[in-house]
Amino acid sequence: MKTVDGVSRRNFLKGAAIAGAGVFGAGMLAGCTSGQHTETAATGAESEQSTAYSLMPGVYQSTVEGKVGPMVVTTVVSEDRLVKVDAGGIESKQFGVLAINTMADEMVRKQFVDVDTCTGATVTSLALIQGVRDCLKQAGDESAFSQAPITESHDEHLSCDIVVMGSGISGQAAALSAAEAGAKVIMVEKLGIPGGAATGSGGAILAAGSSLQNEADGNMDPQGLIDHLYRYSEEQATYDVIKNTVEHSAEIIDWYTSLGVKFQVGECYGTPIHYSHRAWNPDGEEIPHPAGGAIPHPSSGSNIFDRTYPAFLAAGGICLLNTKVTELLQDDSGTVTGVVAMRGGDTITIDAKAVVLAAGGCEGSAEALAKWFPHTNEGMVGGSTGLCNVHDTGDGIELGLAAGGYLTGGGYGQTTGMYSPIPAIKVTMDGVRDSDEMHSELNEDQGSQFKAFYDSGTEYAWTLYGANTQDEAALKALESAQEKGVVFEGKTLAEVAEAAGVDAAGLEKTVERFNEMVAAGKDDDFGTADIAAYGTYEEGPYYLVRYSPGINGTIGGLKISMDSEVLREDGTKIDGLYAGGETCNGEYMYRLYPSGGASLLWGSVSGRLAGQAAAKYVSA
Ligand SMILES: Cc1cc2nc3c(=O)[nH]c(=O)nc-3n(C[C@H](O)[C@H](O)[C@H](O)COP(=O)(O)OP(=O)(O)OC[C@H]3O[C@@H](n4cnc5c(N)ncnc54)[C@H](O)[C@@H]3O)c2cc1C
Repeated sequence: MKTVDGVSRRNFLKGAAIAGAGVFGAGMLAGCTSGQHTETAATGAESEQSTAYSLMPGVYQSTVEGKVGPMVVTTVVSEDRLVKVDAGGIESKQFGVLAINTMADEMVRKQFVDVDTCTGATVTSLALIQGVRDCLKQAGDESAFSQAPITESHDEHLSCDIVVMGSGISGQAAALSAAEAGAKVIMVEKLGIPGGAATGSGGAILAAGSSLQNEADGNMDPQGLIDHLYRYSEEQATYDVIKNTVEHSAEIIDWYTSLGVKFQVGECYGTPIHYSHRAWNPDGEEIPHPAGGAIPHPSSGSNIFDRTYPAFLAAGGICLLNTKVTELLQDDSGTVTGVVAMRGGDTITIDAKAVVLAAGGCEGSAEALAKWFPHTNEGMVGGSTGLCNVHDTGDGIELGLAAGGYLTGGGYGQTTGMYSPIPAIKVTMDGVRDSDEMHSELNEDQGSQFKAFYDSGTEYAWTLYGANTQDEAALKALESAQEKGVVFEGKTLAEVAEAAGVDAAGLEKTVERFNEMVAAGKDDDFGTADIAAYGTYEEGPYYLVRYSPGINGTIGGLKISMDSEVLREDGTKIDGLYAGGETCNGEYMYRLYPSGGASLLWGSVSGRLAGQAAAKYVSA
């Protein structure tokens, strides 16, 4: 068995992120170039193949297509060595920076171009490899550095005080909080990039009474936020869990602020809630978003990790990237004693006095959704943005259940992106109109739309088009729905209803009433502002367009205490086991996503409480 640093058999490494087979310095999230990385140790036993090349020494460049635009790859070669690889352009400023740095270092270290792609940044990774190959072609040998180094597979044994499974918002909050309290922490992340779902998020966090808010808006009443969250849970969440979360919210923002995170305070995404703090990078450039510019990138969860991750490493924590936790270790009394993890073919056993499960929900696994979240379906995976963390497959929930924990929550997803505001009526499977269609999904009406959707007990909702529907945005939406194959057609209302499987009598009744309201110029049912814009449904062809909400995450998971300890059904705690974030949010929300910022608040608070409680437990 080889040791991690080649020095000691059981060793705790200080301040390092271990990415695959190499250990790199703390600058990974701070956007440093590959040349600035400091390799401090090697975990594998790799040796280069001695192959003679005959390249034209020089600096070569190639422009390749990355995930969000062109990426300029620079490759420096001597006659027979790969000297440096780097990449610039849009890609290197945001999404792919970690993938590029990690892979570029590895290529040079191994003298091998086709290194493993970075899970979570595959397009960027492949683009980098292609760019380097193009450069080598210019240097005279496209296939140079193709021979893989010989790698000896090996197992490792580490020890620390606390293992944190997952490096998303809750994992980083837990890991940094525990490290700040003096614990030796290893954060284990199965992807090649830390940050989880929040890296692609809008970075909004709801909070009441932060110092920033007090300066900007005057003192925001915590009770207002508690009431909002509880109302959106349809009074199904546990009130004290919401209260506890909101009561810690100001401290969370003040903590992030003290680490250097900048926030924009105020309203967010048009929600009625003015408690939002958006993690903001004032120097961040507006760059195209993969989902179509929905989230301006100066505002992003990455702006939080730019501060928390280096702070964690600086506090002596280590992060194992590309490493998947597969097993929880417990002694005969059920006390947690560590984890087993896999990196490639290697097994890493980590002895620890406590473990924090912060592995997100299970929006990426149809099997786990079917098992634990009966009100979701496979078609919802990806949400409207396609950006949900498809790598969250319920691993933390699974391990917590196996250790003796139990599930809470109603089995729903965090719904998103079902409707866009167009003047065409929306109906349920019963043909019943359910809301004011002109309200965007990101405001107050979002709740009623999703509520109506769930209440109709179906996977789908519908928008009705007639000859009267001439609005430009509506016609564009119809065109795109036609491309997706979710449009049903009929000459009459009865015909279109039958084609779609919608209740025909219900639809006819709804249309009759709606036409009367258009004629009267007033929407007595849902108060839409400009009912005349819809026109009256009198003439076909009619179309029913099918919708299903997407999910950005799940609502449910393990039952935890107010200190984020994982509990058994009899109320006792599983010694040494804690959880945070979507792995355990079933008592905080119910089935409607209350407002942008609700999840990052939960992840931050539950994670920080888990880290603090675990640190206290291990030092007792
Ligand atoms: C597009 C989008 C925008 C959003 N915007 C906002 C917003 O503005 N405000 C807000 O409040 N919420 C927002 N959300 C929701 C929010 O981002 C998530 O709810 C939150 O980030 C979840 O955090 P988490 O720590 O629980 O899980 P995650 O962030 O998913 O982190 C879990 C981590 O665990 C890792 N992992 C999983 N299994 C294993 C394993 N076996 N071993 C090791 N590691 C493992 C995963 O790779 C992942 O990195 C948004 C979500 C999406 C998708």
